[in-house]
Amino acid sequence: MARKRILITGAAGFLGSHLCDRFISEDFHVIAMDNLITGDLRNIEHLFKLENFEFYNHDVSTFVHVPGELDYILHFASPASPIDYLKIPIQTLKVGSLGTHNLLGLARAKHARMLIASTSEVYGDPNCNPQPEEYWGNVNPVGPRGVYDEAKRFQEAITMAYHTFHGVETRIVRIFNTYGPRMRLNDGRVLPAFIGQAIRGEDLTVFGDGSQTRSFCYVDDLIEGIYRLLFSDYPYPVNIGNPDEITILEFGEEIIKLTGTDQKLVTRPLPTDDPKQRRPDITKAREILGWEPKVSRAEGLKITYEYFKSLPKDIIEKIEHKDFANYNK
Ligand code: UDP
Repeated sequence: MARKRILITGAAGFLGSHLCDRFISEDFHVIAMDNLITGDLRNIEHLFKLENFEFYNHDVSTFVHVPGELDYILHFASPASPIDYLKIPIQTLKVGSLGTHNLLGLARAKHARMLIASTSEVYGDPNCNPQPEEYWGNVNPVGPRGVYDEAKRFQEAITMAYHTFHGVETRIVRIFNTYGPRMRLNDGRVLPAFIGQAIRGEDLTVFGDGSQTRSFCYVDDLIEGIYRLLFSDYPYPVNIGNPDEITILEFGEEIIKLTGTDQKLVTRPLPTDDPKQRRPDITKAREILGWEPKVSRAEGLKITYEYFKSLPKDIIEKIEHKDFANYNK
């Protein structure tokens, strides 16, 4: 039987590259696409020698052409950290809106099933905890996160419209904070920030008083959830994340213990619109997909720390805290 063909956008990024690995190991023909603005070819260079892998350097915000048949599309192209939204806000808006539109058009033309990467950011700074899929969110459209949050909300809307109006088979995953090997050490997210600071012998920067919460999911668990969702018949949004919630202050203490650094936690101003709490309600994922996370934070952090330590020196770059200054205007 001919191999199933899958297009993965954002393929050189953190999640995209793990998805490439998973679908290669399931014997798919993987067509990887990325414009390398935030992605890094080092994440997928081990796949280039395979005959069932090909790569296109392309920005999906412009017309997307893929020769031949397509069975599935996974749209994972997007900047995904607050520092990136500040640096490249227009691209962030375009890839979630125009990019999604182009790919839905492609899915329709090829009769492919399309899964889009949505986010817990559609809930904004939530007024309820944990967040179920039925919660509509509390989002500031004109704040620094608006370019991401609103693009992702539009992405869900146009995906549902293609599903109901054109009959395209669609799936929507709402991804909560995820971590693991291949995260960019300088993307400004809290986990690479803390681990990078510990490795470089700097103090760990806690934003605000550190009482805000997050719930961190290990990447292998997330990929398994996405895999199951793609092959389910459920077209509505599904939260995938780890409900094990922790304050950022406690998280900083865990990183200090894990790395054995003698540095301290220091505070910095809280960025504008930083959500106070975030924890997925995963009832739907449990019931519909039979999925729940398996990797504890202790286990996942250990693997991730080993990965960051193994990186070449030039990658252990500094994160630019001046980039956060715009947040507090
Ligand atoms: N954060 C922090 N120090 C840092 C980077 C982030 O305290 O150096 C905080 C940030 O304010 C937020 C949480 O950690 O409350 C998670 O931030 P991240 O950017 O990883 O993702 P978010 O969930 O906010 O999109």
